[in-house]
Amino acid sequence: MKYRLLSPGPTPVPERVLTAMANPIWHHRTPAFEATFQKCREGLAWLFQTKQEVLTLSCSGTGAMEAAYQSLLSPGDTVITIAGGKFGERWGNMAKAFGYNAVIVDCPWGEAISVDAVKTALESHPTAKAVVVCASETSTGVRHPYEAIAGLVKNLPECLMMVDAITALGVWDISPERDGIDVLITGSQKALMLPPGLAFVTLSDKAWARADVAKSARYYFDLKKERKNQKLNQTSYTPAVSLIEGLFESLKMMQEEGLETMFARHARLAHATRVGVQALGLELFAKAPADSVTSVLQPASLKPDAVYKGLMTRANITIAGGQDAVKGKIFRIAHLGYYDDLDIITVLAATEIILRQEGYTSFTPGAGVGAASAILAAGFVAKPKKTMDGAA
Ligand SMILES: *Cc1c(COP(=O)(O)O)cnc(C)c1O
Repeated sequence: MKYRLLSPGPTPVPERVLTAMANPIWHHRTPAFEATFQKCREGLAWLFQTKQEVLTLSCSGTGAMEAAYQSLLSPGDTVITIAGGKFGERWGNMAKAFGYNAVIVDCPWGEAISVDAVKTALESHPTAKAVVVCASETSTGVRHPYEAIAGLVKNLPECLMMVDAITALGVWDISPERDGIDVLITGSQKALMLPPGLAFVTLSDKAWARADVAKSARYYFDLKKERKNQKLNQTSYTPAVSLIEGLFESLKMMQEEGLETMFARHARLAHATRVGVQALGLELFAKAPADSVTSVLQPASLKPDAVYKGLMTRANITIAGGQDAVKGKIFRIAHLGYYDDLDIITVLAATEIILRQEGYTSFTPGAGVGAASAILAAGFVAKPKKTMDGAA
């Protein structure tokens, strides 16, 4: 049976990228590597919509989280983080591990953080050195109002606005300079259509000024040292060279599609997925859904994780289940990265079959697929085909 991956990370890797990564390993201290890496740096600045350097780190997304903390904060600094999901909680736990004073703003799972709650936290902690928000909280499928929070932080000269955009960058329009973001992070295995193993971070001038005085212990993850080297198309240590070859190709694919088309595709797939599951009588878990992943409450009559496990064992489809507070209760269908309209039809059709097998029958067969396909019709237009070289 054909294997299908519809998890919010890792996500599927296009054939073009897999082929690029199958090349023999290059040595990284060579002009050939430097030429590729320079193109990647230019492509990343385009994708991040920034004039700043976008640094490439060889680690998963959590490594870039550590790098940002270590390079920008000092022990004892106050950091405001948001609860309400696994990744928001990770930012809080990591702050404690590094000896920062973590002020954790409470937020029920499935809800977006209230901007007022963050405002209150900032007022009670006027010396806070950073606020950290997940643009897309992958564990709940919620989009947090990071733009409005950035508006509060912008006026505080000592406070940095850090945004975990690991499942948001490349999905919708984020621009650090326009949106007032000082630290913007993503990882390779989400919308960038790559295997796990690379993470990316860009800093504002305000954040770079902080990097000059921050005192946390650091060695491997030192953003100042990386910037100095990466401006010369080199990395401080041996990079994941195969992944950088893949990055070169995935950036090329994204440039062929174009930012606007890419954002519109994600919005369309997300909309169709949400409408499709609701047409089955199911309820969305996220009150403010992100366009990266759709989280759905399982009907209460089903066994824990019935949809997630049924898809895995009987349809060979990997989506995501719930974690921690919502384990067994929700399932999450991803649509970030290398997904198209028919992937959504496929996963909805399979979900209908699994629901029926599990005894949930209060929908007409095809109801979800039908509702989604009505929306996806907008995506079915003839486009000029590009060749591998980008020529029309
Ligand atoms: C995936 C993800 C991370 C990082 O996780 P890694 O497993 O270290 O790549 C962090 N934040 C969010 C919101 C994520 O989705």
